[in-house]
Amino acid sequence: MPRLILKVAIDAPLRHLFDYLPLFNAPPPAVGCRVRVPFGRRSQVGLVVAHARHAEVADAQLRHIHEPLDSDPLLPASVLELLRRAADYYHAPPGEVLVGTLPGLLRAGRPARPMQVWQWSLTEAAPSPDSLSRAPRQAALLGALTQAPCEESQLDAALPGWRVTARTLADKGWIERAQIAPDAATDWAPERGHPLTTAQRAAVDAVAAGSGFGAFLLDGVTGSGKTEVYLTAIERVLAAGRQALVLVPEISLTPQTEARFRARFGAAVAVLHSGLSDTERLAAWLAARGGQAGVLIGTRSAVFAPLARPGLIVVDEEHDGSYKQQDGFRYHARDMAVLRARIEDVPVLLGSATPSLESLAHGRSGQYRVLHLRERAGSARLPQLELLDVRHQRMAGLVSPALAGAVREELAAGRQVMLFLNRRGYAPVLLCHACGWVPKCDRCDAHYTLHRGRRLLLCHHCGRERPLPIRCEGCGAQDLLPLGAGTERIENDIAALFPDHRVLRVDRDSTRRRGALDAHLEAARDGSADILVGTQMLAKGHHFPAVTLVGILDADQGLFAADFRASERLAQTIYQVSGRCGRGEQPGRVLIQTHQPQHPVLRALLHGGYGTFAAELLAEREAAGWPPFSHLALLRAESTRQEDALWFLGETLSLAAELGHAGVDLLGPVPAPMPKRAGRYRAQLLLQAQRRAPLHALLRAWLPALALLPAARQVRWSLDVDPLDT
Ligand code: ADP
Ligand code: ZN
Ligand code: ZN
Repeated sequence: MPRLILKVAIDAPLRHLFDYLPLFNAPPPAVGCRVRVPFGRRSQVGLVVAHARHAEVADAQLRHIHEPLDSDPLLPASVLELLRRAADYYHAPPGEVLVGTLPGLLRAGRPARPMQVWQWSLTEAAPSPDSLSRAPRQAALLGALTQAPCEESQLDAALPGWRVTARTLADKGWIERAQIAPDAATDWAPERGHPLTTAQRAAVDAVAAGSGFGAFLLDGVTGSGKTEVYLTAIERVLAAGRQALVLVPEISLTPQTEARFRARFGAAVAVLHSGLSDTERLAAWLAARGGQAGVLIGTRSAVFAPLARPGLIVVDEEHDGSYKQQDGFRYHARDMAVLRARIEDVPVLLGSATPSLESLAHGRSGQYRVLHLRERAGSARLPQLELLDVRHQRMAGLVSPALAGAVREELAAGRQVMLFLNRRGYAPVLLCHACGWVPKCDRCDAHYTLHRGRRLLLCHHCGRERPLPIRCEGCGAQDLLPLGAGTERIENDIAALFPDHRVLRVDRDSTRRRGALDAHLEAARDGSADILVGTQMLAKGHHFPAVTLVGILDADQGLFAADFRASERLAQTIYQVSGRCGRGEQPGRVLIQTHQPQHPVLRALLHGGYGTFAAELLAEREAAGWPPFSHLALLRAESTRQEDALWFLGETLSLAAELGHAGVDLLGPVPAPMPKRAGRYRAQLLLQAQRRAPLHALLRAWLPALALLPAARQVRWSLDVDPLDT
């Protein structure tokens, strides 16, 4: 009988599969099952990707697997196919893709069934922790449980070694353990949706009409009822006994979205994102795989979660940059969603008020069918956008008199105001007024940002912190001035201008504590805050019906970036922030402060709206040959010595010349936009091609050879196909 070779993917940075023999006296594990295998001197969890007759290695090197881990395939054929094609397209090591995208507990070899979650709590007999001053560990555990019952994983994190103590306390009858039951959805009644508008109905019908694959771009202004379209389309999918996968950019930022899905679909909703414990992640993943979850809502990596009966894939805010994974296996979840829909033969619905130029181009070429929602739902109208020329104005910090006046009017009328600035911290630079000294991060080409509330300087690029200097390190003077403004400073300035109103700041700093974001968003929604000051965090998908005025404090910031995507991003940000206002009964107004009121980008944005503006941008991209009219890949390298990264990239260039690269332009190598970061020198080489085929052909030949270059040992390098930051 011919022997059987198992082709196994292992999460290692190697670009091939590994060959193993099955155990002698057991049936061979099926494709899609995990196995534990010997790997070097250790053992590793791998995934069987194929059965083969021939091995790539000599017989003497072939080893048997240690043990099979699954009796049934963990991943269905469709997801295996998706992952295989993803690894191929992104030129990523197969193990990193096939194994690396599994939930952590499965990667660690744990069984593919929900883990039991145990929770500890106090009994009636428990004494006060204070009475145990001579047994500090017991007191600590009792103290923790006095506040609330704790899951074992929480105790693992908070009180290492707690299990021994718990046994002692349980023997005394002071604490007890119980299993947490899954959420019972007994008292829940589904919320009914709005009657759809004609445009919404047409969109739902279009998605539901076809059978099998179809890609749809739902291009609908902010507040036009896109979410309502998703919900209705999903209702139909559930009624047909199928499941829906819904991707959202950052679920923690928009708890409202999750709440709306839960209100409509109750216990059928499972959620998957990085804020969950390993146990919760596994449970959601398994509920999707087993078909118990009718709707799986998740961030980026949920696109790879298996579904028993897929019926629809939705990508909300498809333009959002957080769909791009920026390290390790670099993929774009929106593109993977479309590929997956094709493989599963189901429709995919991409929604945005500010679609990416890539998706708009696909709409034009007919690859995506475009569905429009041109008006806001209900009685709400789109806000009015106006430029505020701030040249020569006497600014109070970043606030012009005209903006301050507009804010005063809204507040007087009892309405809410939102001020947007995409820069957190107090000031981006601290400067010595006596000699000009500026504290800089010595690991990055960057200044420290002043965080006055936290009394420290913080490097926003590597995370390094240092205490606030009291005097100048150049001349000793005590005259240190904050230069420029971030949200923290705006919060102070605004509070001084409007002392009788409550100012609420929403950014990564003000929401660091667990639960703080929810509390902030709640205060924004229920109107207990009058003025909201914030970063991008405030721009994303929120629904604050009382906001009638949005001030964009510094539009100039976005006008001068070197990246060819800068205008697209600026436009998306302005429209998304604008979209937060006028969502209730009252109409909204958006004031955009600029020193460049004649700038063509701003004028185009104001006069034509996003659609017209995007069409102009597409024409520019086409003329300049940038994506989506060409295809890019970026080879990045970094090293601790300045010359190594450039040297390595120079070598890769020669290698490409040897291999031949007809149809692909190689641009560079050049130092990265921020040449030094976190103590490493960075450089990059850009590959550009009119057609994908020659680019991928070159990459296929080039990457394996590149790993063998002697210079490769001096650097860390990575390849980014379809990079977003160039
Ligand atoms: P989007 O996702 O496009 O921002 P939403 O679906 O959140 O829009 O809808 C915006 C607001 O309009 C929500 O408060 C929603 O409840 C409401 N809405 C949506 N569709 C309708 C409709 N057909 N009739 C009335 N109100 C609607
Ligand atoms: Zn000085
Ligand atoms: Zn730094």
